[in-house]
Amino acid sequence: MTGFDFPPPVMPPGVEALRAEVRAFLAQSQAEEGWRPDSDFGSDWSASFSRALGARGWIGMTWPAAYGGHERSALERYVVIEELLAAGAPVYAHWVADRQSGPLLLRFGSEAQRRAILPRIAAGGCYFAIGMSEPDSGSDLASVRTRAVRSGDGWRIDGTKVWTSNAHRSHYMIALCRTGPAGESRHEGLSQFLIDLEGDGVEVNPIVNLAGKHDFNECVFDGVTIPADRLIGREGDGWRQVTGELALERSGPERILSTFHLLAALVEAAGPAPEPRLAEAIGRLVAEFYALRAMSLAVAGRLEAGALPDVEAAIVKDMGTRFEAEVAETLRRAVPLEPVAGDRDGAGGNAPSLASALGASVLGLPSFTLRGGTNEILRSIIARGLGVR
Ligand SMILES: Cc1cc2nc3c(=O)[nH]c(=O)nc-3n(C[C@H](O)[C@H](O)[C@H](O)COP(=O)(O)OP(=O)(O)OC[C@H]3O[C@@H](n4cnc5c(N)ncnc54)[C@H](O)[C@@H]3O)c2cc1C
Repeated sequence: MTGFDFPPPVMPPGVEALRAEVRAFLAQSQAEEGWRPDSDFGSDWSASFSRALGARGWIGMTWPAAYGGHERSALERYVVIEELLAAGAPVYAHWVADRQSGPLLLRFGSEAQRRAILPRIAAGGCYFAIGMSEPDSGSDLASVRTRAVRSGDGWRIDGTKVWTSNAHRSHYMIALCRTGPAGESRHEGLSQFLIDLEGDGVEVNPIVNLAGKHDFNECVFDGVTIPADRLIGREGDGWRQVTGELALERSGPERILSTFHLLAALVEAAGPAPEPRLAEAIGRLVAEFYALRAMSLAVAGRLEAGALPDVEAAIVKDMGTRFEAEVAETLRRAVPLEPVAGDRDGAGGNAPSLASALGASVLGLPSFTLRGGTNEILRSIIARGLGVR
C-alpha cells in the first residue's frame, strides 16, 4: 500500500427517503418510550426498542432474506445507523450482534448456525458478547491463553475472558481460543467458538466500571464442554476471522458520533450569536466532523464494494475518537457548568441535564480510545499499511 483511499461513495437512490422514515420513527419512539438521548452506542439497553427496530427491518439490513435479512446496501445501513446514533437511541442490546457477530456467522458460520441464529438477531431478540480480551491479552490478542481441546464429540474449554461487555445479558459469546500451536507468526492455531451463555455453564462475574455501571464481566471457562458444531469456520483459521470481525467493529459511524448529542447541546447553548471564540471553536468542530463523516462514509462504500479497508478504518477510528473527546472538552470549556456524575441531576424529568450528559461523557471518554483496539494499536496498523513499519 502506498497511501490511503477514501473515495466518495455513490449513495443509492432513496436514501434520503429512508433517512426521513428513520427520523419519523425515532421521534415517535422517543415521544412514546421517553428514552434519554445519548449518542454513545453503549449507553442504553432496551429490548423493546431493539424488537421495534427489528420489526422495521433495520437490523441485519444487508443480510440475505433467507436468514431474516433485508438485502439492503451497506450505505443504506450506514444512514440508518447514523440516524440512530445522532438521535441518541437505546441501541446497545442488539448492537454487537448486528454489527459484527451476525456478519461473522454469515461469512464463516455453518448453514445450521446461520439458520438458527441470524433470523433471531434480525428480529432484534438475540444479543451477542465479544470474547476476545483476557487478563493478559488485550492489545496483543494473539497471546490469548483460553484453550479449547477436542473432548469426546465436542470441545472442552478452559480459561478466562475479561472486559466482556454484556455477557450477563447476552445469549451468546463468540470466543477466540487457542486450539493448536501458535507457529512463528503466533497467528496460527486459533479458533472461534459459539458459546451459549445461558446453557454452557460459563461463570459470569460482574465488573463495575468507573461510572458505576455494570457492563463489563469476567467470564470463567472451567472445563466448559460444548458440542463439535459450535466451531465457527475452520479450526485454526481464527486469526483471519477475528481480524475481519475487528474491521467491522472499528469501521462504523459510532467511532465519530459518541458525543454528537454534546455537539448539538453546544450549538444550542451557544445560541444564534455566539461570541467569536466560541463561534470559531464550533466552526472548527463542525468542519472536522464533516470531513470525518466523509471518510467514514468512504469506508462504508469500500466495504460495500467488497474491499477490506482496515487501514482507512483505523484512521477514522483514531481521528474519530479524538474528535469525540474534543467535543466534550470544548463544551466543558465553553459552558460554565460542573459535570454531574449519575443519570439524573435531581432536576426531575426524563431528560438528563446538560451537566449530567457532560458528566457521563467525562466518565466515558477514557473508554472511547480503548474499546475495539487502542489508538496506539490502530497507529501501528496504519504504519504497517503505509509500509513504514
Ligand atoms: C468500554 C470497553 C468495552 C470493552 N468490551 C470488550 C468486549 O466486549 N470484549 C472484549 O474482548 N474486550 C473488550 N474490551 C477490551 C479492549 O478490547 C481492551 O481494553 C483493549 O484491546 C486494550 O487491551 P488492554 O486493556 O489489555 O490494554 P493493554 O493491551 O495492556 O494496553 C495498555 C496500554 O499499552 C499500550 N500498548 C499495548 N501494546 C502496545 C504496542 N505494541 N505499542 C504501543 N502501545 C501499546 C496500549 O495502547 C494501552 O495504552 C473493552 C474495553 C473497553 C474500554
